[in-house]
Amino acid sequence: MAARRLDGAAWAARLREELTPRIAAFTDTAGRPPGLAVVLAGDNPASEIYVRNKIATVGAHGCRGELFRLPATATLDEALALVARLNADDSVDGILVQSPLPDGMGRDAEQRVFDAIDPAKDVDGFHAVNVGRLVQKRPALVACTPLGCATLLDREEIPVRGRHAVVIGRSDIVGKPMALLLLHRDATVTICHSRTQDLPAVCRTADILVAAIGRPGFVTPDFVKPGATVIDVGINRIDDAAVAAALFAEGSAKRVQFEKKGSVLCGDVHPDVEAVAGAMTPVPGGVGPLTIAMVLQNTVTAAELRAAARG
Ligand code: NAD
Repeated sequence: MAARRLDGAAWAARLREELTPRIAAFTDTAGRPPGLAVVLAGDNPASEIYVRNKIATVGAHGCRGELFRLPATATLDEALALVARLNADDSVDGILVQSPLPDGMGRDAEQRVFDAIDPAKDVDGFHAVNVGRLVQKRPALVACTPLGCATLLDREEIPVRGRHAVVIGRSDIVGKPMALLLLHRDATVTICHSRTQDLPAVCRTADILVAAIGRPGFVTPDFVKPGATVIDVGINRIDDAAVAAALFAEGSAKRVQFEKKGSVLCGDVHPDVEAVAGAMTPVPGGVGPLTIAMVLQNTVTAAELRAAARG
Protein backbone atom coordinates (compact mmCIF):
# COMPACT_ATOMS: atom_id res chain seq x y z
CA MET A 1 0.00 0.00 0.00
CA ALA A 2 1.28 3.49 -0.83
CA ALA A 3 2.39 5.64 2.10
CA ARG A 4 0.07 8.33 3.39
CA ARG A 5 1.19 11.66 1.95
CA LEU A 6 2.14 14.19 4.63
CA ASP A 7 1.00 17.34 2.90
CA GLY A 8 3.46 19.98 4.09
CA ALA A 9 2.10 22.61 1.72
CA ALA A 10 -1.44 22.27 3.12
CA TRP A 11 -0.21 22.38 6.73
CA ALA A 12 1.97 25.39 5.93
CA ALA A 13 -1.04 27.29 4.56
CA ARG A 14 -3.00 26.49 7.71
CA LEU A 15 -0.14 27.43 10.05
CA ARG A 16 0.29 30.76 8.25
CA GLU A 17 -3.43 31.44 8.57
CA GLU A 18 -3.33 30.67 12.29
CA LEU A 19 -0.70 33.39 12.74
CA THR A 20 -2.89 36.19 11.36
CA PRO A 21 -4.60 37.07 14.69
CA ARG A 22 -1.19 37.26 16.42
CA ILE A 23 0.11 39.52 13.65
CA ALA A 24 -2.97 41.75 13.89
CA ALA A 25 -2.73 41.96 17.70
CA PHE A 26 0.97 42.87 17.58
CA THR A 27 0.38 45.50 14.88
CA ASP A 28 -2.47 47.00 16.90
CA THR A 29 -0.45 47.29 20.08
CA ALA A 30 2.93 48.24 18.61
CA GLY A 31 1.56 50.58 15.95
CA ARG A 32 3.64 48.80 13.34
CA PRO A 33 3.75 45.28 11.88
CA PRO A 34 6.36 42.66 12.81
CA GLY A 35 9.43 43.34 10.66
CA LEU A 36 11.81 40.88 9.00
CA ALA A 37 15.09 42.00 7.41
CA VAL A 38 16.62 39.55 4.95
CA VAL A 39 20.26 39.98 3.98
CA LEU A 40 21.31 38.60 0.61
CA ALA A 41 24.96 38.82 -0.37
CA GLY A 42 25.99 37.95 -3.92
CA ASP A 43 23.86 36.56 -6.73
CA ASN A 44 23.29 32.86 -6.05
CA PRO A 45 20.16 32.02 -8.12
CA ALA A 46 18.78 29.50 -5.59
CA SER A 47 19.22 32.06 -2.78
CA GLU A 48 17.33 34.65 -4.87
CA ILE A 49 14.33 32.28 -5.00
CA TYR A 50 14.43 31.38 -1.28
CA VAL A 51 14.71 35.04 -0.28
CA ARG A 52 11.90 36.13 -2.61
CA ASN A 53 9.65 33.41 -1.14
CA LYS A 54 10.40 34.41 2.44
CA ILE A 55 9.79 38.13 1.84
CA ALA A 56 6.62 37.49 -0.19
CA THR A 57 5.25 35.19 2.53
CA VAL A 58 5.79 37.60 5.42
CA GLY A 59 4.42 40.48 3.30
CA ALA A 60 1.32 38.50 2.31
CA HIS A 61 0.49 37.98 5.99
CA GLY A 62 0.68 41.59 7.13
CA CYS A 63 4.32 41.68 8.25
CA ARG A 64 6.99 43.94 6.79
CA GLY A 65 9.68 42.07 4.86
CA GLU A 66 12.64 44.04 3.58
CA LEU A 67 15.56 42.86 1.46
CA PHE A 68 19.08 44.21 2.08
CA ARG A 69 21.47 43.37 -0.74
CA LEU A 70 25.23 43.23 -0.59
CA PRO A 71 27.33 42.77 -3.74
CA ALA A 72 29.26 39.53 -4.30
CA THR A 73 32.42 41.58 -3.69
CA ALA A 74 31.27 42.77 -0.24
CA THR A 75 33.66 42.14 2.65
CA LEU A 76 32.87 40.38 5.91
CA ASP A 77 33.21 43.75 7.69
CA GLU A 78 30.51 45.20 5.43
CA ALA A 79 28.20 42.29 6.24
CA LEU A 80 28.89 42.72 9.97
CA ALA A 81 28.24 46.47 9.72
CA LEU A 82 24.87 45.81 8.07
CA VAL A 83 23.93 43.31 10.79
CA ALA A 84 24.92 45.88 13.47
CA ARG A 85 22.68 48.48 11.80
CA LEU A 86 19.73 46.02 11.70
CA ASN A 87 20.36 45.02 15.34
CA ALA A 88 20.02 48.69 16.31
CA ASP A 89 16.85 49.29 14.26
CA ASP A 90 13.85 48.87 16.58
CA SER A 91 11.41 48.31 13.69
CA VAL A 92 13.33 45.15 12.74
CA ASP A 93 12.23 42.14 14.82
CA GLY A 94 13.91 39.40 12.79
CA ILE A 95 17.18 39.24 10.87
CA LEU A 96 17.87 36.46 8.44
CA VAL A 97 21.18 36.23 6.57
CA GLN A 98 20.80 33.94 3.58
CA SER A 99 23.56 31.39 3.17
CA PRO A 100 25.84 30.73 1.44
CA LEU A 101 27.79 33.96 1.83
CA PRO A 102 30.22 34.79 -1.00
CA ASP A 103 33.50 32.81 -0.82
CA GLY A 104 35.47 36.08 -0.67
CA MET A 105 34.18 36.71 2.88
CA GLY A 106 36.29 33.85 4.18
CA ARG A 107 35.69 30.37 5.54
CA ASP A 108 34.18 31.18 8.91
CA ALA A 109 32.15 34.16 7.62
CA GLU A 110 28.76 32.53 8.16
CA GLN A 111 29.42 31.67 11.79
CA ARG A 112 30.83 35.16 12.44
CA VAL A 113 27.76 36.79 10.90
CA PHE A 114 25.32 34.50 12.75
CA ASP A 115 27.20 35.24 16.00
CA ALA A 116 26.77 38.98 15.37
CA ILE A 117 22.97 38.85 15.10
CA ASP A 118 21.09 39.92 18.23
CA PRO A 119 19.81 36.55 19.61
CA ALA A 120 16.39 38.18 20.16
CA LYS A 121 16.19 38.83 16.39
CA ASP A 122 17.72 35.50 15.29
CA VAL A 123 14.73 34.07 13.39
CA ASP A 124 16.95 31.35 11.90
CA GLY A 125 17.77 30.07 15.39
CA PHE A 126 21.46 29.67 14.48
CA HIS A 127 22.95 31.87 17.21
CA ALA A 128 24.78 29.95 19.95
CA VAL A 129 22.40 31.43 22.57
CA ASN A 130 19.34 30.05 20.76
CA VAL A 131 21.04 26.69 20.13
CA GLY A 132 21.88 26.51 23.84
CA ARG A 133 18.32 27.33 24.82
CA LEU A 134 17.10 24.52 22.54
CA VAL A 135 19.56 22.06 24.08
CA GLN A 136 18.21 22.99 27.54
CA LYS A 137 14.61 22.53 26.36
CA ARG A 138 13.67 26.17 26.85
CA PRO A 139 13.54 27.19 23.22
CA ALA A 140 12.75 30.70 22.01
CA LEU A 141 13.72 30.81 18.33
CA VAL A 142 14.38 27.39 16.76
CA ALA A 143 15.85 26.66 13.31
CA CYS A 144 12.99 26.83 10.81
CA THR A 145 13.41 23.56 8.89
CA PRO A 146 13.57 21.17 11.88
CA LEU A 147 10.86 23.21 13.62
CA GLY A 148 8.67 22.72 10.53
CA CYS A 149 9.32 18.94 10.58
CA ALA A 150 8.50 18.67 14.29
CA THR A 151 5.35 20.75 13.84
CA LEU A 152 4.28 18.44 11.01
CA LEU A 153 4.70 15.37 13.26
CA ASP A 154 2.68 17.13 15.99
CA ARG A 155 -0.13 18.21 13.68
CA GLU A 156 -0.33 14.81 11.98
CA GLU A 157 -0.44 13.25 15.47
CA ILE A 158 2.31 10.81 14.58
CA PRO A 159 3.35 9.01 17.79
CA VAL A 160 6.86 10.08 18.82
CA ARG A 161 7.07 9.31 22.57
CA GLY A 162 9.08 6.14 23.18
CA ARG A 163 9.56 5.57 19.44
CA HIS A 164 12.91 5.21 17.75
CA ALA A 165 13.73 8.23 15.60
CA VAL A 166 16.72 8.14 13.27
CA VAL A 167 18.05 11.39 11.80
CA ILE A 168 20.46 11.09 8.88
CA GLY A 169 22.62 14.24 8.85
CA ARG A 170 24.31 16.14 11.68
CA SER A 171 24.37 19.71 10.37
CA ASP A 172 23.85 22.62 12.77
CA ILE A 173 21.02 23.81 10.54
CA VAL A 174 18.94 20.64 10.25
CA GLY A 175 20.27 17.36 11.70
CA LYS A 176 21.29 18.41 15.22
CA PRO A 177 18.28 20.63 16.06
CA MET A 178 15.98 17.99 14.53
CA ALA A 179 17.43 15.35 16.85
CA LEU A 180 16.90 17.66 19.86
CA LEU A 181 13.28 18.39 18.93
CA LEU A 182 12.62 14.64 18.67
CA LEU A 183 14.41 14.00 21.97
CA HIS A 184 12.25 16.66 23.65
CA ARG A 185 9.20 14.80 22.37
CA ASP A 186 10.53 11.72 24.22
CA ALA A 187 11.76 9.77 21.21
CA THR A 188 14.83 7.56 21.49
CA VAL A 189 17.07 9.31 18.98
CA THR A 190 19.94 8.09 16.83
CA ILE A 191 21.93 10.56 14.73
CA CYS A 192 23.58 9.08 11.63
CA HIS A 193 26.15 10.71 9.36
CA SER A 194 28.70 10.04 6.65
CA ARG A 195 30.80 7.83 8.96
CA THR A 196 27.95 5.70 10.31
CA GLN A 197 28.48 2.00 9.72
CA ASP A 198 25.78 -0.12 8.11
CA LEU A 199 23.50 2.87 7.67
CA PRO A 200 20.58 0.95 6.06
CA ALA A 201 20.45 -1.48 9.02
CA VAL A 202 20.36 1.38 11.56
CA CYS A 203 17.69 3.20 9.56
CA ARG A 204 15.57 0.04 9.31
CA THR A 205 15.08 0.19 13.09
CA ALA A 206 13.47 3.63 12.86
CA ASP A 207 9.81 4.31 13.50
CA ILE A 208 10.51 7.86 12.31
CA LEU A 209 13.24 8.43 9.75
CA VAL A 210 14.41 11.96 8.88
CA ALA A 211 16.69 12.33 5.87
CA ALA A 212 18.77 15.56 5.71
CA ILE A 213 21.75 14.57 3.60
CA GLY A 214 21.74 16.46 0.30
CA ARG A 215 22.00 13.37 -1.96
CA PRO A 216 19.11 12.68 -4.35
CA GLY A 217 17.24 9.41 -3.83
CA PHE A 218 19.86 8.18 -1.32
CA VAL A 219 17.35 6.57 1.06
CA THR A 220 16.07 3.52 -0.77
CA PRO A 221 13.36 1.06 0.35
CA ASP A 222 15.93 -1.18 2.10
CA PHE A 223 16.51 1.69 4.61
CA VAL A 224 12.90 1.73 5.72
CA LYS A 225 10.94 -0.35 8.23
CA PRO A 226 7.51 -1.15 6.77
CA GLY A 227 5.01 1.40 8.07
CA ALA A 228 7.63 3.91 9.27
CA THR A 229 7.13 7.68 8.97
CA VAL A 230 9.68 9.20 6.59
CA ILE A 231 10.46 12.94 6.57
CA ASP A 232 12.44 14.00 3.53
CA VAL A 233 14.30 17.27 4.10
CA GLY A 234 16.49 17.07 1.00
CA ILE A 235 15.91 19.31 -1.99
CA ASN A 236 18.04 18.31 -4.96
CA ARG A 237 17.63 19.52 -8.54
CA ILE A 238 18.50 16.84 -11.09
CA ASP A 239 19.32 18.14 -14.55
CA ASP A 240 21.55 15.33 -15.80
CA ALA A 241 19.73 12.74 -17.94
CA ALA A 242 22.10 9.95 -16.87
CA VAL A 243 21.43 10.63 -13.18
CA ALA A 244 17.68 10.77 -13.82
CA ALA A 245 17.83 7.47 -15.74
CA ALA A 246 19.88 5.78 -13.00
CA LEU A 247 17.52 6.93 -10.24
CA PHE A 248 14.06 6.70 -11.74
CA ALA A 249 12.50 3.80 -13.65
CA GLU A 250 11.16 4.50 -17.11
CA GLY A 251 7.54 5.62 -16.90
CA SER A 252 7.81 6.63 -13.22
CA ALA A 253 6.42 10.05 -12.25
CA LYS A 254 9.84 11.67 -11.65
CA ARG A 255 11.24 10.30 -14.92
CA VAL A 256 8.24 11.60 -16.85
CA GLN A 257 8.66 15.03 -15.19
CA PHE A 258 12.35 15.04 -16.09
CA GLU A 259 11.64 14.17 -19.72
CA LYS A 260 9.07 16.94 -19.94
CA LYS A 261 11.06 19.74 -18.29
CA GLY A 262 14.73 18.71 -18.54
CA SER A 263 15.08 18.82 -14.77
CA VAL A 264 13.27 17.49 -11.73
CA LEU A 265 13.34 18.12 -7.98
CA CYS A 266 14.08 15.08 -5.87
CA GLY A 267 14.45 14.64 -2.13
CA ASP A 268 17.03 12.55 -0.32
CA VAL A 269 14.45 9.77 -0.22
CA HIS A 270 13.88 7.63 -3.30
CA PRO A 271 10.27 7.74 -4.55
CA ASP A 272 10.12 3.90 -4.34
CA VAL A 273 10.12 4.26 -0.52
CA GLU A 274 6.47 5.20 -0.87
CA ALA A 275 5.66 1.50 -1.24
CA VAL A 276 7.22 0.65 2.15
CA ALA A 277 6.69 3.70 4.40
CA GLY A 278 3.49 4.29 6.36
CA ALA A 279 3.60 8.05 5.85
CA MET A 280 5.97 10.24 3.86
CA THR A 281 6.57 13.87 2.90
CA PRO A 282 6.72 14.65 -0.83
CA VAL A 283 9.41 16.75 -2.52
CA PRO A 284 8.42 19.36 -3.52
CA GLY A 285 5.45 20.25 -1.29
CA GLY A 286 6.65 18.71 1.98
CA VAL A 287 9.25 20.24 4.27
CA GLY A 288 10.04 23.26 2.02
CA PRO A 289 6.73 25.14 2.54
CA LEU A 290 6.83 24.34 6.27
CA THR A 291 10.26 25.98 6.51
CA ILE A 292 8.88 29.19 5.01
CA ALA A 293 5.85 29.09 7.36
CA MET A 294 8.27 28.80 10.29
CA VAL A 295 10.15 31.91 9.09
CA LEU A 296 6.85 33.77 9.43
CA GLN A 297 6.13 32.14 12.80
CA ASN A 298 9.58 32.99 14.16
CA THR A 299 9.25 36.59 12.96
CA VAL A 300 5.99 36.93 14.88
CA THR A 301 7.45 35.17 17.94
CA ALA A 302 10.53 37.43 17.89
CA ALA A 303 8.33 40.53 17.65
CA GLU A 304 6.17 39.37 20.59
CA LEU A 305 9.12 38.37 22.76
CA ARG A 306 10.92 41.66 22.11
CA ALA A 307 7.78 43.61 22.99
CA ALA A 308 7.29 41.55 26.17
CA ALA A 309 10.94 42.10 27.17
CA ARG A 310 10.45 45.87 26.86
CA GLY A 311 7.46 45.55 29.20
P1 NAD B 1 24.87 19.51 5.09
O1 NAD B 1 25.65 19.26 3.85
O2 NAD B 1 25.30 20.56 6.04
O3 NAD B 1 24.80 18.16 5.93
C1 NAD B 1 24.60 16.92 5.31
C2 NAD B 1 24.72 15.82 6.33
O4 NAD B 1 24.54 14.58 5.65
C3 NAD B 1 26.08 15.77 7.01
O5 NAD B 1 25.90 15.82 8.41
C4 NAD B 1 26.69 14.44 6.59
O6 NAD B 1 27.35 13.76 7.65
C5 NAD B 1 25.48 13.65 6.13
N1 NAD B 1 25.88 12.76 5.03
C6 NAD B 1 26.47 13.10 3.87
N2 NAD B 1 26.70 11.99 3.14
C7 NAD B 1 26.25 10.94 3.86
C8 NAD B 1 26.23 9.55 3.65
N3 NAD B 1 26.74 9.00 2.55
N4 NAD B 1 25.68 8.77 4.61
C9 NAD B 1 25.18 9.32 5.74
N5 NAD B 1 25.17 10.64 5.99
C10 NAD B 1 25.70 11.44 5.06
O7 NAD B 1 23.37 19.72 4.61
P2 NAD B 1 22.11 20.40 5.35
O8 NAD B 1 22.25 21.87 5.33
O9 NAD B 1 21.84 19.71 6.63
O10 NAD B 1 20.96 20.03 4.29
C11 NAD B 1 20.64 18.69 3.99
C12 NAD B 1 19.64 18.66 2.86
O11 NAD B 1 18.47 19.35 3.26
C13 NAD B 1 20.09 19.35 1.56
O12 NAD B 1 19.52 18.65 0.46
C14 NAD B 1 19.45 20.71 1.64
O13 NAD B 1 19.21 21.29 0.37
C15 NAD B 1 18.16 20.37 2.32
N6 NAD B 1 17.54 21.48 3.05
C16 NAD B 1 16.22 21.65 2.83
C17 NAD B 1 15.56 22.64 3.51
C18 NAD B 1 14.09 22.79 3.29
O14 NAD B 1 13.54 23.84 3.59
N7 NAD B 1 13.41 21.74 2.84
C19 NAD B 1 16.25 23.47 4.39
C20 NAD B 1 17.60 23.25 4.63
C21 NAD B 1 18.24 22.22 3.94
